[in-house]
Parts: sequence; structure tokens; C-alpha cells
Amino acid sequence: MNILIVDDSLVARTLLADMLNEAGYKDVILAGSMEEVFSIFCSQDPSICTLVDLVLLDIHLPGKDGIEGCRELKQNAQFHDVPVIIISGLDQVDNLESAFAAGAIDYLTKPPGRLELKVRVSSALKLKGEIDQRKARERELLELTAQLKEMNHELQLLSSRDGLTGIANRHAGNDFLSREWPRAIREQNDFSVIMLDIDYFKLYNDTHGHLQGDECLKKVAQALRRGIHRPADLLVRYGGEEFIVFLPDTKREGAFIVASALKSEVEAMQLHHGSSKASPYVTVSVGIASTIPDMNKPVEVLIDSADRALYRAKQEGRNRICITEDI
Ligand code: GH3
Ligand code: MG
Ligand code: MG
Repeated sequence: MNILIVDDSLVARTLLADMLNEAGYKDVILAGSMEEVFSIFCSQDPSICTLVDLVLLDIHLPGKDGIEGCRELKQNAQFHDVPVIIISGLDQVDNLESAFAAGAIDYLTKPPGRLELKVRVSSALKLKGEIDQRKARERELLELTAQLKEMNHELQLLSSRDGLTGIANRHAGNDFLSREWPRAIREQNDFSVIMLDIDYFKLYNDTHGHLQGDECLKKVAQALRRGIHRPADLLVRYGGEEFIVFLPDTKREGAFIVASALKSEVEAMQLHHGSSKASPYVTVSVGIASTIPDMNKPVEVLIDSADRALYRAKQEGRNRICITEDI
């Protein structure tokens, strides 16, 4: 435990130091003025400076007096939680009120008796120990809170991402719709849905193996990602080899342009498909539906409509885009 004694009288501070030593407190630092205190402690890097656990501070000091000195110590991060005991002459007892107002926790009159000094110092150090423990607990709590926040963020990402492809999952898609669909109704903005399904994917798995099938799904998801540029749009893995894209504020013509880009991105990878009847490469069939949202029509109507368009694309030979005429 380091105790700092600030007194301009060499005799007085040496006497205090001796009494403290006798009481078992061996680590005592002596200073003759506040200026000296600040030049010892504040000129150094706080991380390497000796930490002080208690200050015994004379009221009467040359330069800055003890009361002003106490106030300054309390404003200093290094000393903020360090208890200060004011040492006053009998004739300075009137100043004690301002010493307490400046942050002192106790006082002793000069010269203190041995027992009195020992008891006051011991209880001030006990208080410092408790403050340190509380601070350490607060720091631990802050760290834990930060860790929890981070974990929560990761959990949220995990619960909203598809494990295989890393894109949004159906849960995140529903979340998105619960916000964006009512907004589109309020603002009467066009809303489009693109539904895509890999052609002959069961045969792909049968031919190339399920692991290769997984790799193919990942690559298709990446390709679809490349085809989407607006931050407002959302690409979702909707089912096994089925993807859906929600396009707020997008008309049918715009949706067709996006759908063509998505389809081209998949084709451009030229992933060999050994058993597709539509192409030597992995391809997708695409259905598009668009509408100006209406309070009386749930979004499922729009999704069903895109699904019907997709079904038509499959029936008409796959590897193509179909648009719903009207929902
Ligand atoms: P179509 O051209 O009509 O779409 O035929 P398809 O074979 O693609 O469609 P179908 O619905 O008959 O089969 C879908 C296949 O997708 C069946 C299933 O094994 C595969 N599949 C679904 N999810 C996964 C997955 O996570 N990994 C792999 N490797 N395959 C999957
Ligand atoms: Mg398929
Ligand atoms: Mg399917």
C-alpha cells in the first residue's frame, strides 16, 4: 500500500512517515508541495507511475494550498479514487468544511497521535480496497457486456443466415417482408418478386454427388449475389435449391432486367451439369411477379404468383424467365 505524504515541513512529514513505518506501512512517498506531487506523478506515463493508495495532505502548503491541491487531485484520473486525509493545524479547523467539499474523506489535527493516525489510515485504506474491488467488478461487467453484445450479434447473424450459402434464410426473408411490405402499401410503390430454381438439380446430385451439389449451391448463391446491386433488395435461400429475391420499389420491367442478370451470372460460371436436359451447364428457371401492393392482398399472393410463373418456365423447357401477367 503506497501512502503519499504532502507537507512542506520536513520535520512534520518525516515524523508522519516514521509513525506510519512503525504502524507497518513501509511504502511511503514524501513531497513538499502540490507542485512536487504533480511533477512526480503527472509528468510520467500513468501506466508506469507508482499507484498511490492514500494521500495525507497538509492544508498549509506553499504555492497551491491543500484544499486547492485536493480539488485538483480529485480531478486527476490517476488520483480520482484515492482517499485524501487532510492534516490541519488546530488553528485551521475552520477550513475543514471546504476541505471536505474539495473531496477529502477525513482529517487529522497536527500532530496526530500514533493510534489515531493508525486507525484513520487503516480505515481509509480499507475504503480504497473496496473502491478498487468495485472498480474491478465494474470493468469485468463492462467486458462481459461487450462480449455478450458481440455474441448476440453473431447469434442474430447465424439465425438470419443460411448455413450453407451464407445468404439470408427464409426467416430473415419473412422479417424483411414484415417491414417492407407494409411500407410499400403505405407508399404505394411497386414491389417485385423473383423466384429462381436450379434446373434438374436432383439429377445433378445423382450424377456429381451430394457434396458437389452443396458446392454448386454455394456457387449459385454467390453468382446471384453478384447480380444484385441495390441495398434495398434481398436475396434469400427459400428452400433446397430455390432462391427468392425481393425487390422493393421495382416495376416489372426492372425486375426482368435483374432476373436476366441473375440468370446470366449463373450461366456464365459454366458449371458442368452432366445430366441436365436444358444445357451442358447448371442453369436456373425464373419466375417474376410484380404488383402495386394492396391492403387486401397479402404478400403471399405475390409470392404464389411468382411461383406459378416459375412453374411455367419449368414446363416450357427450363433455363428461361417467365413473368406473371397479372396477380
Ligand atoms: P427441376 O428442374 O424441375 O427443378 O428439377 P429438380 O431436380 O431441380 O427439382 P426437384 O425438386 O425434383 O429436386 C430438387 C433437388 O434439390 C432434390 C434435393 O436432393 C436437392 N437439394 C435440396 N437441397 C439441397 C442441398 O442443400 N444440397 C444438395 N446437395 N442438394 C439439395
Ligand atoms: Mg430444381
Ligand atoms: Mg425445387
